[in-house]
Amino acid sequence: MSTLISEGKTKKLYTTNDENIIKVAYTNHATALNGKRKEDIDQKGTLNNRISSLIFAYLAKNGIKTCFIEQLSETEQLNKKLTMIPLEVIIRNLASGSFQKKFGTDYLAELKQPVQEFCLKSDELDDPFMNNDQILALDIVTEDQIEELRQTAFKINTLLKELFIKANILLVDFKIEFGFDADGNIVLGDEISPDSCRLVDKDTKQSLDKDVFRKNLGDIIEGYQTVLARLEAEIN
Ligand code: 5GP
Repeated sequence: MSTLISEGKTKKLYTTNDENIIKVAYTNHATALNGKRKEDIDQKGTLNNRISSLIFAYLAKNGIKTCFIEQLSETEQLNKKLTMIPLEVIIRNLASGSFQKKFGTDYLAELKQPVQEFCLKSDELDDPFMNNDQILALDIVTEDQIEELRQTAFKINTLLKELFIKANILLVDFKIEFGFDADGNIVLGDEISPDSCRLVDKDTKQSLDKDVFRKNLGDIIEGYQTVLARLEAEIN
C-alpha cells in the first residue's frame, strides 16, 4: 500500500511498506517566483529523477550521507525518510542570480572563494536570507549543526565541481537541503538537478538549467538532456 504523504512544487511523496522509506515521484511541474509561475514541461520529471539519482549515488560513493536508496522507474525513486531542516543551503562559485543583483557584479564574475548562504525555507516569506544568529535565535539547528551543514555543503561543492568540470560544465551555484534520519544523523535530502543548480557550458557559457525557464529564454529540456548525457558519460 502506498499513500500520498505530500505534494511539493515538483515532487510527490508516498509511503511504502517500510515506515523509514518513502517513494518520491518527480512530476513535470516547473515553477518560478516561489511557485507564483507554473507550467508543465514534458520530460522534466524523468530527466530530474535520472540526473538527481546519478548525482546522489556519486556523492554517496564519495562519502556523503544521502537519503537516496535507488531509482525505481523513469520518474520514481526510493529515499530514506528524513525530518527536513527548514533551511536552503546555497553555495556559489561564480556570481549570478540574487548575489549578482545584490552586489552589482558582472554575470559569472570569479569569486575569491566559494560563498555559503542559508535561507529559511518559506514560500510565503520568499525564502529570506538568514545569518547564523537568526538561525540560532529561531532554534532551527544548533551551532555545531550549522557548522556541519556548512562543511558538508562545501565538501559536496568540491565533489560536484570536479564531476561537472569533467563534463565541460561550470557549476555556478546550487541549493541543497538536509534532514535528520531515524538515527539523528544529518543527511542530504531533496534533489540536485538543473532545477536547483546553475550550470553553464564551460566554452559557450550557455545555460543548461532552470534559468532558461525563469528568464523565458526558450526550451529548457535541451539543456537538461545535455546535462544528463554528459553526466552519464562521466559516471557510468
Ligand atoms: P539565487 O539566490 O541566486 O536565486 O539562487 C542560488 C541557487 O540556489 C540557484 O542555483 C538556484 O537554482 C538555487 N535556488 C535558490 N532558491 C531555490 C528554490 O527555492 N528552489 C530551487 N529548486 N532552487 C533554488
